Amino acid sequence: MPERRIHPTDETLPPLWLPPAALSRGDQGYGYEVDRQPPAIEPIEHRIRLDFMTGGPIQRSGLLERYNPWMSGPHDPDPWHSSGRSKPQGLVYAEASCRRALEQERPYYEQVDDDHGLEEAPDFLAHRLRACRDAEDPQNALEAERERRENWYQKIIPWMNLYHVCKRSSYGSLIPHTESESRDVESLLEQNAFVGMVVVEDLADPDAVAREWGLPAQVVIRERRLSSCGDAVAPTPSEFGIELPAPLLVGEYASGGRYPLVPWSDGLVCACPYKQDKPWRVLCKHELLAAEIAGRRESIFLPVTRGVAVPHRARRFVSPTIASRYTPAPEPGGRPR
Ligand SMILES: [Zn+2]
Repeated sequence: MPERRIHPTDETLPPLWLPPAALSRGDQGYGYEVDRQPPAIEPIEHRIRLDFMTGGPIQRSGLLERYNPWMSGPHDPDPWHSSGRSKPQGLVYAEASCRRALEQERPYYEQVDDDHGLEEAPDFLAHRLRACRDAEDPQNALEAERERRENWYQKIIPWMNLYHVCKRSSYGSLIPHTESESRDVESLLEQNAFVGMVVVEDLADPDAVAREWGLPAQVVIRERRLSSCGDAVAPTPSEFGIELPAPLLVGEYASGGRYPLVPWSDGLVCACPYKQDKPWRVLCKHELLAAEIAGRRESIFLPVTRGVAVPHRARRFVSPTIASRYTPAPEPGGRPR
């Protein structure tokens, strides 16, 4: 299986070996098997990250207190409206992005027989549309797929995932407990950290690896000491196909938990159980924090707040291709940008 080796500028670090699914789609070595591998970071996920980066900080006063994502949906009143709170601007953009993505995907349903055309479609959608082609009743299968995708963009992403993350009990657990409207990046990074570490196999001796590379012992960590390990729903970096030892960014969060950010689909994906438990989830609170920090720094790269200088690829939060074409989707009835 072809993979890509990235040499850190810091020569005391092992190289980062990336599997084909972590490369960009335009890369000749790119390859991804929808059936076998963890979910790809869909284009809408990259855009939602950019939406929150553009939307600016989310104030505690803008987070929901009582909201049940399993009991609510698009036919209910907007929970921000009914609670008299102001909706975070990033979320407003993200909902507009979902509407725009749905529109942009419409032509794919008309060209299921055109393999070339489907190459442009998001991986999961292309996979499902090819399956529709082989179904007993292709037209029915296509209609069901269209409804399923609509449900994802209109209900599941906003109502079941993003609104849930924008609660005090979720994102609120990572940000300072003050109602103050001004918050700088430093105050977020005082209680959360992105640590540059070398992740090694469980059977490896971290001290020996540290000595071999001339690294401080505390930056070398066995895979099983990451919080996602031991949780059956959350794959480890090696289960994503990342070869160990690997220089990776590891998030240490105010709410507890130490989860790696795994290079995947041209960006990074948080390996926490919330994100990994359901393939339809496009954002976890850790990724929202990363988006706020990246947005404040006006960079698609996350900072290393402690530890070793992992390669840029291990810090690249959003696909550069998608970032270079990004503009916030216009909101209904207004504010073109
Ligand atoms: Zn997470």
